[in-house]
Amino acid sequence: MIPLLDVNAQNLPLEAELQATFARVLRSGRFILGGEVEAFEHECAQLLDAAAAVAVSSGTDALVAALMAFNIGPGDEVLLPTFTFFATAGAVHRVGATPVFVDACPVSFNIDPERAAAKVTARTRAIIPVHLFGQSAEMQPLLDLARHHHLHVIEDAAQAIGARHHGRCCGTFGDLGCFSFFPSKNLGGFGDGGLVTTNDPELAALVRQLRNHGMHPKYHHPRVGGNFRMDALQCALLRVKLRHLPAYTAGRQHNAAGHTARLSRLPGTAVAGSPPATGARLVLPAAAPHNDHTWNQYTLRVTGPGRRDALRDHLAARGIGCEIYYPMTMDQQPCFAATPEASRRDCPTARQLATEVLSIPVYPELTAGQLDEAAAAIADWLAA
Ligand SMILES: *Cc1c(COP(=O)(O)O)cnc(C)c1O
Repeated sequence: MIPLLDVNAQNLPLEAELQATFARVLRSGRFILGGEVEAFEHECAQLLDAAAAVAVSSGTDALVAALMAFNIGPGDEVLLPTFTFFATAGAVHRVGATPVFVDACPVSFNIDPERAAAKVTARTRAIIPVHLFGQSAEMQPLLDLARHHHLHVIEDAAQAIGARHHGRCCGTFGDLGCFSFFPSKNLGGFGDGGLVTTNDPELAALVRQLRNHGMHPKYHHPRVGGNFRMDALQCALLRVKLRHLPAYTAGRQHNAAGHTARLSRLPGTAVAGSPPATGARLVLPAAAPHNDHTWNQYTLRVTGPGRRDALRDHLAARGIGCEIYYPMTMDQQPCFAATPEASRRDCPTARQLATEVLSIPVYPELTAGQLDEAAAAIADWLAA
C-alpha cells in the first residue's frame, strides 16, 4: 500500500511543535494580520530571494490579486497554458478577462513559448506561465515576448516553491509570483493559504492593500480589493514547516531520481526529451539541466490508446496511489466553451498529454522499499 500522498507522515513528527505554536497564537489573541503574518512573509521572501512577499488566502486568490493589481478586466486577454490546474484559468475569468489557451511542450508539460507568441493580439495584457509539477517554464523567451508587447508576467508557481531556473527561484522572474500552501503542495499547510512575491516595493504595497479590501489608509479605499488575508494561525503553523522545506525538496528529488533509476532499466521505457522516447510505451519525466525541479508530481506519459487508464487500474489494484493531472485541458472545459477566443483553440499536444499522463507517489517520506514496490508493479504491467 502506497498512498499518492501521506500528509500525516510529514506533519505528525512535528505535532508537539505545532501544538505549542497553536497555543502561542491562541494566547496572543491576535488572529488577523500582525506579527506572525509579517514574520512568515519575511521568511518566505528570504527563502525565495524576493524583495517582498505577501501572504494571501490561497493560491487562487494570489492569482486574482495579481490580476487586479494590473487592473486586468473585461476586454483584456491573458495568455496561459491550457495544460494546468483550473485555478490559473478560473482567476482570469473571474476578473472578467478572457483566458487565451496556449499549447504545451511535450517534454516539460509547460507552456510553449512559440505558441504563446502566435496568440498575442492588441488586447493581450498579461501572460501567466505555470511552473507545472515543480519545473520552471522556459522564462527567457516568455520575458522577451512580454517586453516586446508590454505584457505583465504573472508566474503561477503554486507547484514550484523553491524550484530554480538558471539558479534563480521561480516566482521572481516576472512582475508577480503566485504560490499555494494547499496541503498537497510542496509546502503544505493546514487548510488554504497562498503567497504573492515581487521585487517591486510599490507592487508589494498594492497587493498588500488589495488583500485587505483595497484599503489604505484605514477606512479609505483607493481601489476595490477583497478579503484575501491569510490567517495568523496558518502563518504561524507554516513557519514551523518552512524550516524543513529544503529537506522536503531533497526528499522529493531523491525519490524522483529513484523512480527514474528503477524505471529507465525496464524495456519499453524512455526518458522524456532523449531521442529513443519515440516508440516508448512509458515516457519518464525529466528536468532540463538548467532547472532545479522540485517534483510536486512525478508524471509519466503512457502512450497508446487506453493504455494510461489500464496502468492506472493496474496500480490501483496493487494498492499504489496514482492520479491523472490533468484529464482535461482548459480549452476543453465546458465553462469556457463560449468564451470569445473559442474559435482560436488549437492545442493538440496538451490534448494528447491529457490522455497520456499519470502521476505516481513522489512525496518526501517514501521509503526505498516503496519505490521498489511501485517499480515492480509497473514492471509487471509492462511485461504483461
Ligand atoms: C494548487 C494550484 C493553484 C491554486 O492554489 P489554491 O491554494 O488551491 O487556491 C493554482 N495553480 C496551480 C498550478 C495549482 O497547482
